Amino acid sequence: MSDIKCGKQGYADFLELHILHHATEEQIYGLWMIEELAHHGYRVGPSHLYPKFHRLERQGYLLREDRLVDGKVRKYYRATALGARYLETRKRMVLELVTEAFSIEELEQVIARKRRKERSAQ
Ligand SMILES: [Zn+2]
Repeated sequence: MSDIKCGKQGYADFLELHILHHATEEQIYGLWMIEELAHHGYRVGPSHLYPKFHRLERQGYLLREDRLVDGKVRKYYRATALGARYLETRKRMVLELVTEAFSIEELEQVIARKRRKERSAQ
């Protein structure tokens, strides 16, 4: 049936949340986000990513700033207060599901991995 469609939609939402997450931390741009996603193991091209930026901007979740970089206009994005609130709400929903869907052992492994990662980043 529409399994693939369903998956795509979920993936799209996840992508938008990932964009918003980074845009609340700093100003980001398309190529940076493509590389960031690649670090997470996702191969996402500009034709897939840019419509997400535009949609989030239209919804008032992202604010665009055009800057000249090496003679070319680069579009930078930062989350608005509305975008940050939307992200917080959606994060709570994800956390609720994650908390229910994973065992305590699995969650502890994730926490231990995050602790190691943060310690090595210091
Ligand atoms: Zn990331």
